[in-house]
Amino acid sequence: IPYTFKDPSLLDHRSFVGGKWVEGSKGDTFSVYDPADNQKVWDIADLDREDVKGAIEAAHTAFKSFKKSLHRERRWLMRRWADLIRENADDLAAICSLELGKPFKESLVTVKYGTDFLDWFESAIERQYGETIPAAKGDNRIFTVRQPQGVVVAITPWNSPIAMITRKVGAAIAAGNTVVCKPAPETPLCAIAIAKLFERAGGPPGVLNIVTTSAGKAADVGKEFTENKLVRHLSFTGSTAVGRYLHAECAKTFKKTSLELGGNAPFIVFGDANLEKAAEGLISSKFRSSGQTCVCANRIFIHSSIVETFASLLAKKVQDTFHFASVWDPKCNFGPLYSFKAFEKIDVQIKDAISKGAEIVYGGPEKNSQWGPNFCPPTILKGGNKDMLFMQQETFGPLAFLVSFETDEEVIEMANDTDAGLAAYIFTEDISRVWRISEELEAGMVGVRVGLISACEQPFGGIKDSGTGREGGRDALDEYTEVKSITVGI
Ligand code: ADP
Repeated sequence: IPYTFKDPSLLDHRSFVGGKWVEGSKGDTFSVYDPADNQKVWDIADLDREDVKGAIEAAHTAFKSFKKSLHRERRWLMRRWADLIRENADDLAAICSLELGKPFKESLVTVKYGTDFLDWFESAIERQYGETIPAAKGDNRIFTVRQPQGVVVAITPWNSPIAMITRKVGAAIAAGNTVVCKPAPETPLCAIAIAKLFERAGGPPGVLNIVTTSAGKAADVGKEFTENKLVRHLSFTGSTAVGRYLHAECAKTFKKTSLELGGNAPFIVFGDANLEKAAEGLISSKFRSSGQTCVCANRIFIHSSIVETFASLLAKKVQDTFHFASVWDPKCNFGPLYSFKAFEKIDVQIKDAISKGAEIVYGGPEKNSQWGPNFCPPTILKGGNKDMLFMQQETFGPLAFLVSFETDEEVIEMANDTDAGLAAYIFTEDISRVWRISEELEAGMVGVRVGLISACEQPFGGIKDSGTGREGGRDALDEYTEVKSITVGI
């Protein structure tokens, strides 16, 4: 790759368990590939269920002392860790580009976004207040404290390999827990590098453990996570199907779960919207990360009076916005999909929509593009309707399906007609619509006149089949603590 690492020691193929860098006990490995050309990057240690059990035990041992750490000590740990990530931002971004195929320029933004979470949690650590409660029984006094839970397991996805670690792991550690993190098999290198920086920041052994495992071992390792009684909280970002399974398994030992699952975000442009703003919002919501985020717009509802104008404006803006090149080229702002599997899913959705009457306004995937085997350009289709696959199935790629609507009632019904409930977006200049529609949409997060809603200070999460729990914002540390009430007789 055309990048020279300033600190090559951030690159490692090993897992991090109990403060030691380890191979899998059986010596197994799995491979990571560069999505830009499908070339192998490295063989990574493939830990099995026994190894993972050992990591959980190491985290449990570490918890015994870490839970007593002073809030301020944890605060300084968080600050040193965030500072080291900032100092190594270029190298981390390069690792992200290498294993995810994200344009280098965008990877730098991702590193900053990931660091924001640590900054935010750092500032919140010392404000984990309890309450005093007037007791009905006059000679009692009741107060509450927030305590860490114990061992937290974090299963993190490939699509945001830095921020999903800092968002889950950062919050859990800030709250005084210890963590076993299993990064996605597609993107373990970012997790490993972040753990190296945690170690350098003075993170005590066993507080953060990274267990790298192949896709083939995920189910077996998953059983250890859900069955091991030492694990008190499982935090997962991924598909609804896997989330549903993990949730049910965790119920058996009453583990707390934070589940951030699939979305199917409606993006609604009303007849009175500022179309320039709406098109720009849609470009950032739909096409960033090549459409591979769980809050990307998926079903785009445009009022029938503006659908033609909007489609042409959107096509022009997409044409002006995106520059394809090698992901290492500073001008590149649109990268390949993470795998050919993703390309195939998109292809099926497009063919399905076209066979049911949709038409391509802009773009259209081509196999073996000059920009790599997994590349799909931003594509716009109009004439979408409710019988098409994309209406019920998350696309997770750069396809914008435009569906026209007539009335507010009709569009609310269509927008809510999905099992998912993560993000939703509306564009209108009418203040009454802003309130009415945002309150009626069945989603955990609503963007009004904005296409980008993710921020460290905002509670992030969904309802319905999009999961449970909120990460980020003031609620983030609460998610990883338990309230204990203490009643004192005087
Ligand atoms: P994706 O399609 O993004 O890989 P999945 O939900 O299938 O989404 O997987 C998300 C993450 O969950 C991956 O890191 C995968 O290895 C892991 N995973 C999949 N199945 C299990 C399981 N049964 N137990 C634990 N982790 C799992």
